[in-house]
Amino acid sequence: MAVASAARNLIVVGQGAAGLAAALAAAEAARAHSRPINVTLADKATQDEAGGNTRWSPSNMRMASTDRVEPSFVHDMLAASNFQGDQSYFARLVKEAPATVKWLASHGIEFIQPTYYLAKGPPRIQPVGGGPTLVKELTRAAKLAGVVFRYGCVAREIAIKNDRITGLVVEQNGTRQTLAADTIVLACGGFQGNADMMRAHFGDGAATMRLISPGTRFNTGDGIRMAQRLGADRSGDWNGMHAEPVDARARNSAPVVLVYPYGIVVDKNGRRFFDEGAGLVHETWEWFARAIHFKAPGSMVYAILDSRLFEIADYQRAIRSELPPVHADTLAALAKLIGVDADNLVATVAAYNAACVGDPSRFDATGCDGLAAAQTLQPPKSNWARAVSVPPFLGYPLVGAVAYTFGGLATDDRARVLRNGAPIHGLFAAGEMTGHFYATAPNAVSVLRAFVFGRIAGREAVENLTAR
Ligand SMILES: Cc1cc2nc3c(=O)[nH]c(=O)nc-3n(C[C@H](O)[C@H](O)[C@H](O)COP(=O)(O)OP(=O)(O)OC[C@H]3O[C@@H](n4cnc5c(N)ncnc54)[C@H](O)[C@@H]3O)c2cc1C
Repeated sequence: MAVASAARNLIVVGQGAAGLAAALAAAEAARAHSRPINVTLADKATQDEAGGNTRWSPSNMRMASTDRVEPSFVHDMLAASNFQGDQSYFARLVKEAPATVKWLASHGIEFIQPTYYLAKGPPRIQPVGGGPTLVKELTRAAKLAGVVFRYGCVAREIAIKNDRITGLVVEQNGTRQTLAADTIVLACGGFQGNADMMRAHFGDGAATMRLISPGTRFNTGDGIRMAQRLGADRSGDWNGMHAEPVDARARNSAPVVLVYPYGIVVDKNGRRFFDEGAGLVHETWEWFARAIHFKAPGSMVYAILDSRLFEIADYQRAIRSELPPVHADTLAALAKLIGVDADNLVATVAAYNAACVGDPSRFDATGCDGLAAAQTLQPPKSNWARAVSVPPFLGYPLVGAVAYTFGGLATDDRARVLRNGAPIHGLFAAGEMTGHFYATAPNAVSVLRAFVFGRIAGREAVENLTAR
């Protein structure tokens, strides 16, 4: 008589893009191969709030179309990482991206080619409905495939016996318990929501940095620390984070103000401090947001524009603040309203305007237009140097807000967590918590890689359970 084999247990930690892809792919693989595997997804948040950054993300993905990645993708990733990135990781990402997008589409996700803020940049696709739809549809599909969801369930520790995973220690409803697990996929984000870790890696000021969306706070580095206690290797830039400038007054999620290249930016003393036109907005926002928080007096700066902003076609696409700009008929009055040194602001704008010597008809917000200020201007302004002169004058107070951190676990191109360069048996990781970004976040890659390596992790986990 055949004896039914005992069911194996796979636990996925985190209900963002990476965790949902892992859980759904694992449940499908188990069913396809008739393997008795229980798939549980644990998230620390409530059902209404789970989904981390993914829930709040427009989720642009860097693909030329749903079935094609740009030929330069791997090179672009390596260039963005100052050539510190893992080529095999990004090559696998390219290889799996079209099939992963097709798989997402098979679960009810529709894609469009979005118009980005104002400037074009690399081609992208976007799920209709963004992050909320991703979380909703993939959760529905995962439940149908048999995944069990546990909310308010905080992963604390990986239980090990004889170097094999035996369980996941969690806290739920104030009780600590160990859930049986043979294999674990960690997909619980970076450490931007952990003040101590932020302080340790970015300095004292980092603990007070604003979090860009309500879901950002749940990612407190738990998965990274749990794996490190097993000796997991680190990877990624531990001094790296993705941050963007947001309206200091606004309370809505990600109230970014990305029109600063078309005017000037001053600190509270009324002085410029960087080249606002150094590149397309997604090439300067990260550095700029960090400079605001860590270098500007009071960790606040002010974008100053004039009414010609309203003549830029679709300028609203680059402003996600719920509030209109502060406005006044004179620069001195505007300075008073926003709390900037008025004499200095008037002098700064006068010096800037005098340096705007190019033909203003060349102004083109959709790309680097080469309309540079005179070389005498310090700091320079390399593009979009058009005088700020047509009232009313507009001001946006800006702070830097962190979206996610780069430092994380070392994983290979099969999403296996590494220790001394070799896989830790039964442990996989995907998404933000894996450290593959260095220097600067490659634009529109975070969600894509979370899905691709989450799906790989889910499939590999099932293989791993079968092979034991
Ligand atoms: C406003 C905004 C806009 C963005 N725009 C883009 C974009 O256009 N394109 C792009 O590629 N990227 C974008 N990003 C980044 C991208 O959305 C995220 O990096 C990506 O979604 C992360 O997916 P993830 O699955 O790794 O983590 P998350 O989606 O953050 O999910 C992590 C989950 O883990 C849970 N968790 C954490 N700790 C524990 C624990 N101890 N136990 C149990 N559960 C735990 C959290 O509750 C959360 O649900 C944006 C981010 C934000 C916030």
